[in-house]
Amino acid sequence: MPTSAYDIVVVGSGPAGQKAAIQGAKAGKKVVLIEQEPGIGGNCVYRGTIPSKTLRETALQFERLKRSNEVFEGRLRLDLPMTVLLHRLDEVVKAHECYMAGQLTRNGVTYRHGRARLLSPHEVQLETVDGACQTLTADTIILATGSRPSSIPGIPVDHEHVLDSDSILSMIYLPRSLTILGGGVIACEYASTFALLGVEVTIIDRGKRPLPFMDQDIVDVFQRSIERQGGRFYSGQTVTEVAWDGVSSVVARLANGMAVKSEKMLVALGRQPNVEELNLEAAGLSLDDKGHIPVNDYGQTAVPHIFAAGDMLGRPPALASQAMEDGRRAVSHALGLPVGDSVIQVPIGIYTIPEIASIGLDEEQAAARYRGPIIGRAPFTEIAKGQITGACDGLLKLVADPSGERLLGVQIVGEHATELIHLGQMALQDGANIDRFIDTIFGFPTFAEAYRVAALDILGQRRKRQEQPKAA
Ligand SMILES: Cc1cc2nc3c(=O)[nH]c(=O)nc-3n(C[C@H](O)[C@H](O)[C@H](O)COP(=O)(O)OP(=O)(O)OC[C@H]3O[C@@H](n4cnc5c(N)ncnc54)[C@H](O)[C@@H]3O)c2cc1C
Repeated sequence: MPTSAYDIVVVGSGPAGQKAAIQGAKAGKKVVLIEQEPGIGGNCVYRGTIPSKTLRETALQFERLKRSNEVFEGRLRLDLPMTVLLHRLDEVVKAHECYMAGQLTRNGVTYRHGRARLLSPHEVQLETVDGACQTLTADTIILATGSRPSSIPGIPVDHEHVLDSDSILSMIYLPRSLTILGGGVIACEYASTFALLGVEVTIIDRGKRPLPFMDQDIVDVFQRSIERQGGRFYSGQTVTEVAWDGVSSVVARLANGMAVKSEKMLVALGRQPNVEELNLEAAGLSLDDKGHIPVNDYGQTAVPHIFAAGDMLGRPPALASQAMEDGRRAVSHALGLPVGDSVIQVPIGIYTIPEIASIGLDEEQAAARYRGPIIGRAPFTEIAKGQITGACDGLLKLVADPSGERLLGVQIVGEHATELIHLGQMALQDGANIDRFIDTIFGFPTFAEAYRVAALDILGQRRKRQEQPKAA
């Protein structure tokens, strides 16, 4: 078996692997990036972020058209082919592939198409599509193999009637009805996109409410919005059986005896790390009891020159932005380069319709840590831009400490929430005072004005608290 020597071998070309490879190459190292799929980019490009957001963009265009219903007759054709709805996907993916390949080439990263597995602590076997094997040796190994949808016993995903997030967009036609199992990010994002496209959506989840890790008020706005589109939530329900009736419907039976029928089903019940194929034991690595590779803050495993990064770590938030940072940090640490502070404030962006975004503490978390945090609210009905665009389904919450001065967090639901959050992120990182938002002139009309409205709300409450006579 031929052998090639590298400074760094990176396995997986998703956001984590790419950033790791480029960081290593920029530091002057000889780097090889291995990917088993024909294209570079990982799940992010082919099955996750980019395809789902492309479909979402179509749904949003349709929604904007519906808002101008006096001018256009906003109605979708029945049995609409998915290719029509995803008409921009090829272009977007090609543009991404081209940009990523260019970046790797420019930085001198060697790219190899094939499957990787560990042979020993410093050896990686590369098996190419023709079955040929080669051994690559490396001083540093970065594992960035991502994750895949979890398979759940009793729920037979056949990728035709019962689909998962890898196969949902391979449907040939837009279905009339869709049952979604799960109440997490992927479930809610697809639920709101399909509901807006006129699909009858039913979400079934074990939890009491969708997105349980997000601020209650924020989730309420989202839930009301999707219900207005005709979507239904069956919360606190357990699915006991899923079956295709052989003719036209998938039937989900619930523990309470109910049967929910729909044309298609999306199973979005979590993801599991891609670790089985890696032959971790050969390098002296093992998994923890949750099936994840244990790592420190830099992604360093029990074998100091082997690192793991991105979704394969199974740590929330499983986002492309976090994966990129994981990759960069791992290689920087391996090479003894400055890594920067540990990332404590990762903005969460959820591309439901309307969007949801969060940074820092929410109301419940702040109340658990401080006695009486002050919450400033800015409903988008009070924001001129919301009225003008017809996007009044929105709320921005500023969370301040009990003095009403220190910003602890920002929670947003509404149009552009995933962009707006970065203003809050910068303020939080700089330790900005709530008054900063009041002293700042925001453009008019903008959604960003919501920060000022929420800060003024805090100011009002702060004054009232100060006026209250202190208990003797
Ligand atoms: C439907 C959906 C929507 C999403 N939307 C968003 C969003 O809007 N914003 C956001 O930030 N994140 C989003 N995500 C999450 C985002 O896609 C992931 O966080 C990100 O892709 C993780 O990057 P990664 O590099 O860890 O892994 P991946 O992108 O999963 O890449 C891992 C790569 O490793 C390869 N690989 C695996 N094993 C081997 C092996 N043995 N040899 C060679 N190659 C191998 C795989 O083929 C894959 O290409 C979404 C995910 C899904 C599923």
